[in-house]
Amino acid sequence: VPALDVEKIRRDFPLLQEKVYGIPLVYLDNAATTQKPQIVLDTLEYYYTRINSNVHRGVHHLSQEATNAYEQARKTIAAFLNANKPEEVIFTKGTTDGINLVANSFGRGFIKPGDVVLVSAMEHHSNIVPWQIMCEDRGAELKVIPMDQNGELIMDEFTALLNDKVKIIAVTYVSNALGTVNPVHDIIAQAHARNIPVLLDAAQAVQHMPVDVQELDIDFLVFSGHKIYGPTGIGILYGKEEWLNKLPPYQGGGDMIKTVTFAKTTYNVLPYKFEAGTPNMSGAVGLEAAIKYLQEIGIENIRQWEEQLVDYTISRLKELDGIRFIGNPKHRSGAVSFLVDNIHPYDLGELLDKQGVAIRTGHHCAEPVMDFFHIPGTVRASFAMYTNFEDIDRLVAATQKAAAMLR
Ligand code: PMP
Repeated sequence: VPALDVEKIRRDFPLLQEKVYGIPLVYLDNAATTQKPQIVLDTLEYYYTRINSNVHRGVHHLSQEATNAYEQARKTIAAFLNANKPEEVIFTKGTTDGINLVANSFGRGFIKPGDVVLVSAMEHHSNIVPWQIMCEDRGAELKVIPMDQNGELIMDEFTALLNDKVKIIAVTYVSNALGTVNPVHDIIAQAHARNIPVLLDAAQAVQHMPVDVQELDIDFLVFSGHKIYGPTGIGILYGKEEWLNKLPPYQGGGDMIKTVTFAKTTYNVLPYKFEAGTPNMSGAVGLEAAIKYLQEIGIENIRQWEEQLVDYTISRLKELDGIRFIGNPKHRSGAVSFLVDNIHPYDLGELLDKQGVAIRTGHHCAEPVMDFFHIPGTVRASFAMYTNFEDIDRLVAATQKAAAMLR
């Protein structure tokens, strides 16, 4: 019995009422981006019709209001993550931007030739390429924590990779391609035993399960607003104060400085040191609205609901001939990736679309994962708090029909 009223939640999301090709939409591409509840849309309108002004600059009334709203959003998000201080919460453009920030600043501050950066075999391109760029710049080496055929990290091999050359570890909490929930507590504990900081890509975690940065003892954690029911173009970097103070700034510009002369510039305190230029103010208050909405429903209720959806999806898809799950992790969240017979995922995806079912096909920005399984891509169904059992039934029926046509 669900602890959340899914039908009521669905009514809060205008886009879910849309039709495609005249058929009610089944939206199962939530790992790519989520739909937005009315309160987020209203908040964006409120921001622009009532308080829009530049933050941190003017003495005038509106600028104060905009600054207050922006800083209140930071406080709400800090509380959501259980950060020790709001100053540990940096507004970014998204997950990709947050990882680039840390890779760039950490690289310039702490990486020497011969050092090692560890990522995992199931990372999104955005948690691979920024580290590759940095390693190339610094003469460092990128090494990979391998995974097994179930799509789970091989923890013995992780342990074996740890040594004094490893300077930072960047792993995903939840795989966007496979749905695997990684043993991040174990990873962080082993890393910290050797004084190695860890960055967690929580792009597929914060919307699905409780995430407490102090309980995790995580050094850096990043996510995107648009995947947690908020606007695009806004994201969060959480960093331990101690680390953020030690890192050199990323981008230079307005707001991130204390004083500027042509001879020397001194930098602002946290969090402004990492927020150069006019920030995404409407995005920040929109994200706050999304997080408050989610908190009202309760992240633990969402976790339980989505767990039932995942189990139901797997058991229903198992009814289909030729079904092959890509990744079979014991701990899974948010997404199920599969193939049917040797049908190309794009062909399947196209025929699902014609039946009003929106799923993602392809490599999901995780080409190394597809190479590992020797496949061109997968069909991925991914869930949100508003996904219901009927969505899954329509996915299964549409897949069956599509497969019959393509065989
Ligand atoms: N990491 C993971 C695990 C993701 O799922 C995504 C988005 N698909 C990203 C990083 C990148 O997020 P964004 O494009 O919002 O920066």
